[in-house]
Formats: sequence, structure tokens, C-alpha cells
Amino acid sequence: MGNIKLQLSKHAWKAVRTTSTVTLAATVLAFLPVWIWLQVDPVITVRDIYISAIGLPLLISPACSIGIQRAHLKVRRLADRNEYLANHDELTGLPNRRAFFARAGELLARPRCSTDVFVCAIADIDNFKRINDTLGHETGDLVLKSLSSALQDFAPEGVTVARLGGEEFALAGLFASETAARIWFEALVRETARRRPASLDVTISLGWCVGQSGENLSTQLSRADHALYEAKYAGKNRAVKARGDVVRIVSVA
Ligand code: GH3
Ligand code: MG
Ligand code: MG
Repeated sequence: MGNIKLQLSKHAWKAVRTTSTVTLAATVLAFLPVWIWLQVDPVITVRDIYISAIGLPLLISPACSIGIQRAHLKVRRLADRNEYLANHDELTGLPNRRAFFARAGELLARPRCSTDVFVCAIADIDNFKRINDTLGHETGDLVLKSLSSALQDFAPEGVTVARLGGEEFALAGLFASETAARIWFEALVRETARRRPASLDVTISLGWCVGQSGENLSTQLSRADHALYEAKYAGKNRAVKARGDVVRIVSVA
């Protein structure tokens, strides 16, 4: 807390210093040419006054503006970078858990066609520890990156893909029907094995569920997680739908 206060006062002092410097520089720049002019030609005409009153600001203002705009641009770039880092996974570039909750939550709250279903899933790389242990952590990272781009390429428009952490990914989106979602998740599992991320035999298991009316995203993810556990238990490399979409009714987060 003390540190934040110190930071703020440091920035405040910098702003005061910059404002004073710019004001002083503008005053000197406006005064100096008029003073020199008076030394050379002490008789000032109305025309001369107009020239100095219009000409000097025309020279000084752009110079000051450029400095201010450059500082503004630097701050904007830093803010954009901060926002990117806060919402993306560093290794894969995918949206992170926080961004997933924001995007999927938005989708969930959006009014939609009555036949559409909101579906959410968790995908987990099979035997990933073995890849790390036998081929090294760097190869593991390559698999994560390669799978991430494959997931994003394969996802239809409107489906959000994110890295939850480790070798787990979350997916959420609207589908025309439950059958359409099933066909897509099964194809995704098959396609992952076929594409061979990082040229290795990598498979994923996936658990998914259809969102129920009034159910929040955390509850849906936790049901998808149970289905994922079943997919692992049943032998991995498959997509399993959460059993029975009968759920506790909770408020929309
Ligand atoms: P299962 O099929 O049951 O999912 O087994 P698994 O080996 O995939 O799962 P487990 O939870 O045993 O191991 C996950 C491993 O993922 C352990 C951890 O070291 C590794 N891991 C987590 N994050 C990263 C990462 O960013 N890079 C790499 N290379 N490995 C990671
Ligand atoms: Mg896992
Ligand atoms: Mg795993």
C-alpha cells in the first residue's frame, strides 16, 4: 500500500515537472523571438503583432502536441500490453481462464434463438506427463502450442477456446443442437489424433455438457470436468457428455 502511494506521488511529481517545463519552454519560445525582434527593429507595427500572435503559437503548439501525443501513445501501448497479458496465456497465446469466463459468460447471457444450445467443455491431453518425462519439458511445451493452434483452427466461429492451465483447455459456444455439438466434439478428438500435434501421437479426452436454464458457468465447467473424468476412466481419446442434464438451479453469474 505504501509502495502504491509512493508510485502515485512519483507520477504526480513527474506530471507537475512536465507541465512546468512545457509552460516555461512555451513562454521562452514565445518571448525570445519578440525580444530579438525588438532589439533589431524597436518599432512594432500592428502587422508585426499579428504575425507574432499567430505565427508563434502555430510553431509552438505542434511542437508541444507532438511531445504530449508521443507520451499518450506510449501509455496506450503499455495499457494494451497489460490488458493482453492479463487475458492471455503466455505460452500458447490462447485466452486464459479469466478471459474464458468473461467471453463465455457474455455468450451465456446473450439472447439467443430458442433452438440453440449453450455448450461448455473441458479437454485434457492424455498422458501428458509421459511426454514431458520421456521427451522433455520443451517438447511438452511444443505439444501445448501446437494443440492450441489446432483447437483454434478447428473451432467454429463463436466457439471460445482457452487454456485453463497445465494441459487443460476449456471450450464454450452456441450450437444449433445437442447433436451438432456431439458431432463436433467427437470430430475434434479424432482430428487432434489425426493432426498429430508437434508430430507426436497426442490424443485428448473431453468432457462436455449442455448448459441448463439458470445454471452458471462454474457449475457447467464442473459438470464437464466430471464427464472428462469419465472419458479418462473409459480409456481416454474420446468425448463424453455429462450424464443427465438435471442440475441444481443457481443464479446466472
Ligand atoms: P491423464 O491422461 O490422466 O490426463 O494424465 P496426464 O499425464 O496428462 O496428467 P497429469 O496430471 O499426471 O500430468 C500433467 C502434466 O502436465 C504434469 C505437469 O508437469 C505438466 N505440465 C503442466 N503445465 C505444463 C506446461 O506449461 N508445460 C509443460 N511442458 N508441461 C506442463
Ligand atoms: Mg490434467
Ligand atoms: Mg492430462
